[in-house]
Amino acid sequence: MGVRAATTAHDQPPWPKVGSIGIKDPLMKLPLLGLDLLQIRQALGEAFPAYRARQIYEAIYCQRVGSIEEITTLPKWLRQELDTRFTIGWPRLRRVFESADGTRRFLLELDDGQLVETVLMPEPDRDTVCVSTQVGCSVGCKFCLTASLGLRRNLSAGEIAGQVLWVARQVGLDPHRRQLNVVLMGQGEPLLNLEAVAKAIRLLVDPQGFGLSVRRITLSTVGIVPKIYELAKLEPRPKLAISLNATTQEQRAQLIPIARKYTLAELMAACRAYPLRSWERLTFEYVLLRGVNDQEADARRLVSLVGQIRCKVNLIPFNPAPGLPFQRPEENEILRFQQIVQRSVPCFVRWSRGVDVFGACGQLRCMELAEKEAGSGPRSESGNLVATGPGFGILRVGPGGPAKLSPELDNT
Ligand code: SAH
Ligand code: SF4
Repeated sequence: MGVRAATTAHDQPPWPKVGSIGIKDPLMKLPLLGLDLLQIRQALGEAFPAYRARQIYEAIYCQRVGSIEEITTLPKWLRQELDTRFTIGWPRLRRVFESADGTRRFLLELDDGQLVETVLMPEPDRDTVCVSTQVGCSVGCKFCLTASLGLRRNLSAGEIAGQVLWVARQVGLDPHRRQLNVVLMGQGEPLLNLEAVAKAIRLLVDPQGFGLSVRRITLSTVGIVPKIYELAKLEPRPKLAISLNATTQEQRAQLIPIARKYTLAELMAACRAYPLRSWERLTFEYVLLRGVNDQEADARRLVSLVGQIRCKVNLIPFNPAPGLPFQRPEENEILRFQQIVQRSVPCFVRWSRGVDVFGACGQLRCMELAEKEAGSGPRSESGNLVATGPGFGILRVGPGGPAKLSPELDNT
């Protein structure tokens, strides 16, 4: 870092034309985030020696520089030239909400003004970053706030990996120094955007780049059956979590419209066929909805569905949000359900993190949209504005906020 490389005879103009990497408007700068080493080399053009591409790649994925100007391994004239054609492509921070339990929810603005949520959940021994894979979601689950947005668009590989790298840059995370988990459980259905998701994973695990272990990435799907078979062949392949959420075909189809197309029987067959590695277990997620799927009979059916698979079950007590027609079960009901399941299968309760900062999936973004439509500035029912910056505010929950936080029970 900080060493200025001399100009070499190799990197003289003429400059290659913007072209094959996908930039349409020649006046628009090409974002480098999301390009792999080969693509950076192609974008630079053959006039440059290969090591220039590597310097840029490392500056983005290892050092996570803020701008091209900060790539001090390149000579100044080259940085100036590159700056006319490229941008790093970082998202812009619109707002950050900090919860009493340390969870930080970032509302990030993408190049075209679309907003996504990224969440950082620090724990004593590790950090977890939850990223979005789409803007909105087309699946329409009845208990999920993201569903009300519909699908706005898919995220690109750079926008997906960029959320992790952005948080790492912002708060100084380094997977080589402290355990970092990445969960693809934010807005969107990752298996309906598998190509970009797969590329984002390749970028994040590259040992020459960010260097995250693929064992630390978990992809959560609602159950897009043919894509589960596709995922099984992916290399590198993340861990897999299935949002089961119901134990009969009828109930699943009511809660998750796409389950009419990909039935429970087909989903369970895909799970049984899934080639688990020796160190791996499938995860089944189960959102607990009071009086709907939280009865003893549900727990027993859940065990009979998953009992033969090397797996664990994560129970997610429903996160209430305006307009969602469900309730969260009482704590004793949640624990009773857990007790029944864990007689046969490891079972954990994922007590919500950051429920005092609009904890439900998509809630933050919906709130922002509602404010936009109402024409009001940053505000919150449960938070005080404690700091502002250009275009965003930091909201902190005041005394008496609704949070009731319990420790994570799953330490695997
Ligand atoms: N689309 C993917 C990943 C994003 S949703 C999927 O469905 O798996 C991530 C998790 O949040 C899923 O397990 C989903 O069932 C759960 N979820 C959605 N809305 C919720 C809510 N209101 N309360 C609790 N969990 C919710
Ligand atoms: Fe989409 Fe997942 Fe929400 Fe269902 S739970 S609407 S699949 S984000």
